[in-house]
Amino acid sequence: MDRTDTHATPPVKTEHFDVFIVGAGISGIGSAYHLRQQCPSRSFVILEEMESFGGTWLTHKYPGIRSDSDLYTFGYRFKPWVGTPIASGEEILKYMGEVIAENDLGRHIRYRHKIVSASWSSADHLWTIEGTRLDTGEAFRISANFLWMCQGYYRHAQGYTPQWKGMEDYKGRVVHPQVWPEDLDYKNKSVIVIGSGATAATLIPAIAADCAHVTLLQRSPTYFIPGRNVNLLADQLRDLGIDEHWIHEITRRQILREQGTFTRRSFEEPEKVKEELLAGVRAFLGPDYDIETHFTPKYRPWRQRIAFVPDGDLFQGIAAGNASVVTDEIERFTQKGILLRSGKELAADIVITATGFNLCVLGDVAFEVDGTPLDFSHSVTYRGMMFTGVPNMVWVFGYFRASWTLRVDLLGDFVCRLLNHMQKKGANKVTVALRPEDKNMPLLPWIDPENFNPNYLMRSMDLLPRRGDKPEWQHTQDYWLEKDQLPAIDLNGAEFVYE
Ligand SMILES: Cc1cc2nc3c(=O)[nH]c(=O)nc-3n(C[C@H](O)[C@H](O)[C@H](O)COP(=O)(O)OP(=O)(O)OC[C@H]3O[C@@H](n4cnc5c(N)ncnc54)[C@H](O)[C@@H]3O)c2cc1C
Repeated sequence: MDRTDTHATPPVKTEHFDVFIVGAGISGIGSAYHLRQQCPSRSFVILEEMESFGGTWLTHKYPGIRSDSDLYTFGYRFKPWVGTPIASGEEILKYMGEVIAENDLGRHIRYRHKIVSASWSSADHLWTIEGTRLDTGEAFRISANFLWMCQGYYRHAQGYTPQWKGMEDYKGRVVHPQVWPEDLDYKNKSVIVIGSGATAATLIPAIAADCAHVTLLQRSPTYFIPGRNVNLLADQLRDLGIDEHWIHEITRRQILREQGTFTRRSFEEPEKVKEELLAGVRAFLGPDYDIETHFTPKYRPWRQRIAFVPDGDLFQGIAAGNASVVTDEIERFTQKGILLRSGKELAADIVITATGFNLCVLGDVAFEVDGTPLDFSHSVTYRGMMFTGVPNMVWVFGYFRASWTLRVDLLGDFVCRLLNHMQKKGANKVTVALRPEDKNMPLLPWIDPENFNPNYLMRSMDLLPRRGDKPEWQHTQDYWLEKDQLPAIDLNGAEFVYE
């Protein structure tokens, strides 16, 4: 349906869709698939700022870019993964491309469309979404009944780089992996990679053999799980000629059971799990390596994401002498490199700041509800996906202790069930609201730092919605609970208010 708004200057056509999906990353594409399958009569559109699909996997182009969780579970439940468990960015993009082609989703996606604002009108029961076409510079306006926010959690255009003293004095090149320069020549150069997360662990083995030397410089260590990049069960089933759909499902169940046990143990017996993780690293680096200083985090396992290191390649590089680890704090940059708190100076031609993301809440879109600007930090989250005071909107925020995409599938089912329920009821609007028994509930920050505390979340917690102390009003980050709870949600429960 097309409507023309005669009041706007310059006049812009307002197109209308039943459902509006923001972002063509792995969440947006998965959500569109579920919508087509489970609500086939709904019209929908996906708007994406970048020139193609993929989100994270399109943005990150640094050498060695790969998943840090297995693709049997990072892949969708409906599309078998047939490669090695840990996959390259390119392989993930190919997989997503196949999902788009096989399900005819391409015609619903509009690239280079940046969404700037979204306003809800209770009089019309509609969202009005406005933005700019980056290819033509034109403004666009679309109205929609339901907003499915699949915009991820960080700003794609720029990574997070702390401002250290003396950076302007440094004569070498400073690069953030999120915006990797195509012309970066690191051959035979000495390189420092600042950071100890999955990005550093991926990048270092990919460049170490070409560089004169790579130093991983970290303030504090991270947990890693080294292991072979194979799934023996999947390979065995393949050998037996089992159908790939079966292999996918069986392998997912096996992995999820093992991960569930591991996650539970990391809460129940953290010291034992910690020792096992450290033993995995020691197996590559030998008994004389200072594991205590460089690979023993101060926090309990799983309070931050644990990266899988396929074939222990990071540790192999360290053992071979191509890479080394320095655990210290940065005092300042110098002309030649970095001066550390300990007084030691590290010289480098290139410094790579694998220092993380800038969190962005709901795609940096300016939201309004009935003319009032929305401050998400004043709302309370319903299971990390809906917000009090914000009608007809769901935010897809995945898991960190399990593959993100597991939640894309679960929320896909939930949103479609909700949309079909509304249609049956004849409701145009749904909002979540605190029930009488929730009124005196303490309101807390979005996530409990005791539970999960990566720096990018800690830096921006004040921008995020509040959580309560009951499971309904929290983003529990617990796949093993949610896989049963989300399908069982009673859509007639008092927390859902329909009009
Ligand atoms: C290097 C790296 C490796 C990772 N590896 C794993 C892994 O192995 N396993 C795992 O579970 N998780 C991993 N993650 C987390 C990962 O981000 C998610 O798993 C997942 O890819 C996020 O997908 P998404 O579609 O929700 O968001 P994104 O990939 O961020 O995609 C969101 C899309 O929305 C678009 N968008 C945002 N705002 C707007 C706007 N205003 N207008 C128009 N378009 C907009 C963006 O351009 C982007 O394309 C990794 C993250 C990184 C950075």
